[in-house]
Amino acid sequence: MGTFLFDKTIFGPIKSRRFGDSLGINLLPNDYKLCNLDCVYCECGWTLPPNHKIELPSYEEVAEEFENYLIKIKAEGVNVDSFTFAGNGEPTVHPEFPRIIDLSMALRDKYYPKANVAVLSNGLLINKDGIREALHKVDLPVLKLDAGTDKTYHLIDRPKTKRSLEYLAEHYKKLADKVVIQTLFLRGEYKGDKFDNTTEEEVSAWIELVKKINPSDVMIYSLERDTPTDNLETIDADKLEEISQRLQKEGVKASVY
Ligand code: SF4
Repeated sequence: MGTFLFDKTIFGPIKSRRFGDSLGINLLPNDYKLCNLDCVYCECGWTLPPNHKIELPSYEEVAEEFENYLIKIKAEGVNVDSFTFAGNGEPTVHPEFPRIIDLSMALRDKYYPKANVAVLSNGLLINKDGIREALHKVDLPVLKLDAGTDKTYHLIDRPKTKRSLEYLAEHYKKLADKVVIQTLFLRGEYKGDKFDNTTEEEVSAWIELVKKINPSDVMIYSLERDTPTDNLETIDADKLEEISQRLQKEGVKASVY
């Protein structure tokens, strides 16, 4: 047990297996996690109660820090492969998210035109037009799909609403062939509820959902970092590879990380 928070808005680039030299953009607070999910495996810890005072960097603060940081690392000859929205929670909850995406695309074009702009999102706000349009603009909208059945999705990702995976898949599809799916496989127990998203039932249902979305790529991985609860089990590389192969036989590009 033990968790990790980024203490800056712009950080890196850090070496990433998925994104290369990845410049991190954290639109969330620097000292606690802010998210509309509360995944049992979240490396940032548990989501705080909704009455917690929220302080986010303003658009102007992000814009100034972002450009100053790019000027500095460009002058130092630092390579950047990806501008990656990640950090201490869910980036799309920032009220200026669409505007900050436009800013990041412009800064990318100005300073690192070959870099991708990637957003790691849990996809929960994709039903909002402004968020979906912003995700559609970026090069890599990487959206979470952590189960095949709603029961397991609710035990692992713990949304507060009754949102279904079918509903998410219908909206994910609207990002056409750009969307990338990310799935974390694990098994474990929390507060007496057991879950395992690698069972035959789960994997078969998950493959059907992925086929419906028709993503450009699927990123498969398991636990790598500290989690807020101890009773979680990582999935070995052979099992992840087996799941990846099953998906590829269905004609969907997939990789294990
Ligand atoms: S969606 Fe991401 S940030 Fe939010 S709780 Fe889950 S793992 Fe953590």
